Amino acid sequence: MSVADRAAALFTERYGTAPAGVWSAPGRVNLIGEHTDYNDGFVLPFAVPLRTAVAAAPAAGPGWTIHSREADETVVIGVDDLTPGRVTGWAGYVVGVLWALREAGVTPPPARIALTSDVPLGAGLSSSAALECAVLAALVELGSLDVPKDSWPRLAQRAENGYVGMPCGIMDQSASTLCRAGHALFLDCRDGAVEHVPFDLAAHGLALLVVDTNAPHRLVSGEYAARRAACESAARTLGVGALRDVEVDALPGALDRLDEITGRRVRHVVTENQRVLDAVRLLRDGRVTEIAPLLTASHASMRDDYEITVPEVDTAVDAMLAAGAHGARMTGGGFGGCVLGLVDRSAVDATAAAVRAAFAAAGYAAPHAFAAVADRGVARLI
Ligand code: ADP
Ligand code: MG
Repeated sequence: MSVADRAAALFTERYGTAPAGVWSAPGRVNLIGEHTDYNDGFVLPFAVPLRTAVAAAPAAGPGWTIHSREADETVVIGVDDLTPGRVTGWAGYVVGVLWALREAGVTPPPARIALTSDVPLGAGLSSSAALECAVLAALVELGSLDVPKDSWPRLAQRAENGYVGMPCGIMDQSASTLCRAGHALFLDCRDGAVEHVPFDLAAHGLALLVVDTNAPHRLVSGEYAARRAACESAARTLGVGALRDVEVDALPGALDRLDEITGRRVRHVVTENQRVLDAVRLLRDGRVTEIAPLLTASHASMRDDYEITVPEVDTAVDAMLAAGAHGARMTGGGFGGCVLGLVDRSAVDATAAAVRAAFAAAGYAAPHAFAAVADRGVARLI
């Protein structure tokens, strides 16, 4: 059964009637551009064919009833709960969307919601944005709200920043909302400008192998906040609005003005931004295979300069490259999560097997691997 059908069946099971509709939003993989988003820089995500589906119907009101298959819990929300701090845990991502709508001057309609997801939770594929964006789509349509789609990324980000308390950038919500099939989303995180860049792997005999390393996210929120703070402090020292304003050519001079560790953090961000621009240029020209060295260089930069990889992730990248992948890197915020490799279509299974063998040899749990193609963003499915 598709994820949409499962959400609809879950709704009927919980509430005894059919939903008014099912809306869904995808998880994403970031092809390249890591920790550049909060530096006003560039990212290049694409939507994976794994989605969160939200079945919903108007309620007599007031308030909301939300059930998640993955959380295996029903949460009842009153109007008084639309205050940060009131609802914690998984339901906070949903209530955050209600809160963000109200903060934007829009009244979300009372509703009953049942949701389920194919996006693994907490694996770095952005189940959180998929959840926020699918809920937002459901509420906007149920309530006939005047909330244009190009404002959804900011609204969903606000939910996560302001209600959940996770200081994420704009990438995940932009990808989940705006992506198109067969394209990656070139996103300028400074002004939100987007370009849909052709990313048709099949046409080039290629595939993108995604491996969820299952590595638990260790220290993730503290380390994320520390990296973000280092970037902000470096931008102040360098007298720029954000590290995006530092060009690669100006890097040596900038590094002279920073301590060693901050310098390495800055070098990652500045060179990573350049790698995104280089990758976009190649993809616009249909030179897909040529992005491979950029992927591998991105990984080295995250491992050595930004220090956000963990042994499981490095093992997966090394195994992919040893098995003949054109390029490979960790994707996502780091300290665990997923790795992607650009491989020949014919080499998908062998490359996945090589990663599994390397994990077995290292004593790590067997990783989950899948070949991803670029899917569409948020959509009504039923
Ligand atoms: P990621 O976005 O990479 O999957 P996050 O830590 O940002 O990881 O978000 C994961 C959290 O989002 C989960 O721990 C849970 O609280 C919430 N979440 C996402 N999808 C669901 C779902 N289907 N049901 C309940 N909670 C979910
Ligand atoms: Mg997330």
